Amino acid sequence: MTLSATLAELVRDFRANGRIVIVGASLAGLRGAEALRAGGFSGSLTIIGDEPYEPYDRPPLSKQVLKGWVPADHTLLPRARELDARWRLGVAATGLDRAAKQVHLANGEQVPYDRLLIATGTRARQWPNPAEAALEGVLSLRTRDDAARLQQALAARPSRVLVIGGGFIGSEVASVCRELDIPVTLTERGPAPLVGALGGVIGEIAAEMQRDHGVDLRCGVSVSSLEGDAAGHVRRARLSDGTTVEADVVLAALGSIRNVEWLQGSGLAAGFWGGRVRRRRPGVRHQRRGDRQRLRGGRRGARATRVVRVPVPRDGALGQRRPRRRGGGPQHGQPRTALPSASAAARLLVRPVRRQHQVRRRAAVR
Ligand SMILES: Cc1cc2nc3c(=O)[nH]c(=O)nc-3n(C[C@H](O)[C@H](O)[C@H](O)COP(=O)(O)OP(=O)(O)OC[C@H]3O[C@@H](n4cnc5c(N)ncnc54)[C@H](O)[C@@H]3O)c2cc1C
Repeated sequence: MTLSATLAELVRDFRANGRIVIVGASLAGLRGAEALRAGGFSGSLTIIGDEPYEPYDRPPLSKQVLKGWVPADHTLLPRARELDARWRLGVAATGLDRAAKQVHLANGEQVPYDRLLIATGTRARQWPNPAEAALEGVLSLRTRDDAARLQQALAARPSRVLVIGGGFIGSEVASVCRELDIPVTLTERGPAPLVGALGGVIGEIAAEMQRDHGVDLRCGVSVSSLEGDAAGHVRRARLSDGTTVEADVVLAALGSIRNVEWLQGSGLAAGFWGGRVRRRRPGVRHQRRGDRQRLRGGRRGARATRVVRVPVPRDGALGQRRPRRRGGGPQHGQPRTALPSASAAARLLVRPVRRQHQVRRRAAVR
C-alpha cells in the first residue's frame, strides 16, 4: 500500500472512530460540532460546557430579553442538524494534559481525546473592587442568568440605572433603559461611546443620539467608587470629576476577558489575547498559509478580514488567535473571532489530506 493510501485509510478510520472533544458549549462550540458532522466526522463527539444550559444566543440578552419581550431561557440557538454528541454541561474544564491527551474536569474526571477544539470564549470583566462588586444591584451582563437578573432589576423600576462603560453592551442597555422610560446615566472614559469599536465620527453621532433620547451621558470621566446603604444595596457612585450619581442599579459594562486560565500549564501559549501556539515550537505547528487562504473562502490575495489564523499544534489541540483587525479585544466586549475560526478549525479536523508535505506533517501527529 502506498503512503497516501495508508494515510487516506487513517483519515477514514479517524472520521469513523476518532474522539473529538469540544470545550465551550456556546455559539462557536455548537457550530464547530455541526461543521464536524457536516464534514463527515461520525466518531465520538463530546461537548463540555461550564454553564448548565445548552448553547444559547447572547445578542438577545441585551435587547429583547431586557425589554421583557423574550424570557432569558427562550434564547437557545437553533440547531442546523442532529449532533449525536455527548453533552457534559455544568462542569468546567480545569486543565489540559496534552501528553496524555486528556481534558481535566472540575469534578475530577478526565475526558480523553484524539483531537480537541477550544471554544471557551470570554467572560464579563467584573467591577474591580470586590467589596463594591458584591453590593446588591451591581451587575454585569454576559450570561443568560446575568440577563435574567438585570431584567428583573429593570422591571422593578429603579430610580436610576448607572451604566459604566460605553461600548456595545453599555450603549444597548442604556438604550433599553430609555425605551422603558427608566432614567439612566452612562459613564465612558473615552471622548464618546463606541469610539473604541467604531471610531470618533460614529462615536460622536452615537453620543448625540443617546443625549437626544434622554441618556445622561458623561464622557471623559470614570467611576472612582461605588457606595452602598446599610442593607448592602448600591446607592451612589463617585466619579473622577468629583461629581456623584445616585443610582440603585449599576451595570459594569467593562468588556470581556478570555477564558484561558484552564490552559495554564498545558504548554499552549494562552494569555490575555487568547490561545496561541508559537512558531517552531517542538511538536507544534501553525496552520499553513494555504489553509488560511482557503479558510478565508476567497481567491489568492483576498482581504483577510473575517477569519483568523487557527494555530494547529501537532497533538491535535486547536486554539484561537487574535485577529489582526483593529477594534476587537477585551475592552470592547465584542470578540469577533470565535464562530469563523471554530468552524474553520472543525472543518480542518476532517479535511482530507491533499498535499504530500501536509501528509508527512499529519503523519507525524498520529
Ligand atoms: C449581552 C451580549 C450581547 C451581544 N450582542 C451581540 C450582537 O448584537 N452582535 C454580535 O455579533 N455579537 C454580540 N455579542 C457577542 C457574541 O455573543 C459573542 O461573539 C459570542 O457569544 C461568542 O461565542 P463563543 O462561542 O466564541 O464564546 P462564548 O459565547 O463566550 O462561549 C464560551 C462558552 O465556553 C464556556 N466556558 C468557558 N470556560 C470554560 C471551561 N473552562 N470549561 C467549560 N466551558 C467553559 C463559557 O461559559 C461559555 O458558555 C453579544 C454578547 C453579549 C454577552
